[in-house]
Amino acid sequence: MNIHEYQGKEILRKYGVAVPNGKVAFTVEEAVKASEELGTDISVVKAQIHAGGRGKAGGVKIAKNIEEVRTYADEILGKTLVTHQTGPEGKEVKRLLIEEGCDIKQEYYIGLVLDRATSRVTMMASEEGGTEIEEVAAETPEKIFKEVIDPITGLLPYQARRLAFNINIPEEYLSKAVKFMMGLYQVFVEKDCSIAEINPLVTTGDGEVLALDAKLNFDDNALFRQKDIVEYRDLEEEDEKEIEASKYDLSYIALDGNIGCMVNGAGLAMATMDIIKHYNGDPANFLDVGGGATAEKVTEAFKIILSDKNVKGIFVNIFGGIMKCDVIAEGVVQATKEVGLTIPLVVRLEGTNVDAGKKILADSGLNITPAESMADGAEQIVALVNEA
Ligand code: ADP
Ligand code: MG
Repeated sequence: MNIHEYQGKEILRKYGVAVPNGKVAFTVEEAVKASEELGTDISVVKAQIHAGGRGKAGGVKIAKNIEEVRTYADEILGKTLVTHQTGPEGKEVKRLLIEEGCDIKQEYYIGLVLDRATSRVTMMASEEGGTEIEEVAAETPEKIFKEVIDPITGLLPYQARRLAFNINIPEEYLSKAVKFMMGLYQVFVEKDCSIAEINPLVTTGDGEVLALDAKLNFDDNALFRQKDIVEYRDLEEEDEKEIEASKYDLSYIALDGNIGCMVNGAGLAMATMDIIKHYNGDPANFLDVGGGATAEKVTEAFKIILSDKNVKGIFVNIFGGIMKCDVIAEGVVQATKEVGLTIPLVVRLEGTNVDAGKKILADSGLNITPAESMADGAEQIVALVNEA
């Protein structure tokens, strides 16, 4: 689960991690009022969307007086920001963070992730702050430093100091930088984060070490014990199809392609996407209907896939293990009738009661293309979508 920058900063503040003063605003008037209350000469007007790269897209503006706050707030609120993380459709800005302007000396990068290779939380740091860390990793990987953290001891002060030295944080900021890193680690662990990224972390003219940006993501599997984090959820920022899917316990992730996939099992779903790619197609989604999918679930899955306007064809790839192929076939037929399918549908069934399943599809009189294998199915759906 993702939250907004201003929410992330609220959490950081509670853990003693320094952030600039700021307030959320939903209207231009609230933005002006927030800036007046901050009482600083310079305010920064920041678009709050669940995506980074706002600065370059015009979503972060430095205002030198109240009138400029009004102008920028008016300009940014309601605007659709397109950043490299939003996709081409962009995201509409509905909230702003009005924050005090900081006298930035230097920008750095600090990030915490779970490194799956070592199975350890790892802190990464770089003196190339403000730019995308992926870019730094690709072009100057020697400028990224890492500390692998032992779960028993947690981040140790000497590790934080070593990182600070490595990224050339000046001596006079050292103790504050270490305190910052220790606090950030505590947030990461106690709040079950999957990512905590501060880009940039800055040193300021008045001797502070502050998080100017905050990206916190949380492990969905831990949300049951993070009630205060769930409160931060902003459904308007989430994909409607994904919200709908979660109601039916379907694992669904929207993607950019045009071939809708309905598969059981996450591994098979991944393999299905790969094989579509192999035949030069593009999957429109990842969808795992789960081991015990019912006809109702299959119908809902179809509806969700079809609500994506980019979908030009559907590939159903089901292995009947726990689930029987005839039950799936019934579900597919029922769903096809119910939603009035007009685009190509290729179905590959394998496993328990496969012959009965195939017979149901064949006898349905519906325009369903059977596939003999995964590869055959992928090849057929790509061809049908390209013809259309
Ligand atoms: P994004 O990563 O989405 O572009 P950031 O919050 O990192 O958004 O802001 C982009 C840039 O704007 C920062 O790198 C920093 O230079 C500047 N900036 C952001 N907040 C402030 C602030 N409170 N005071 C001064 N400059 C800021
Ligand atoms: Mg940033």
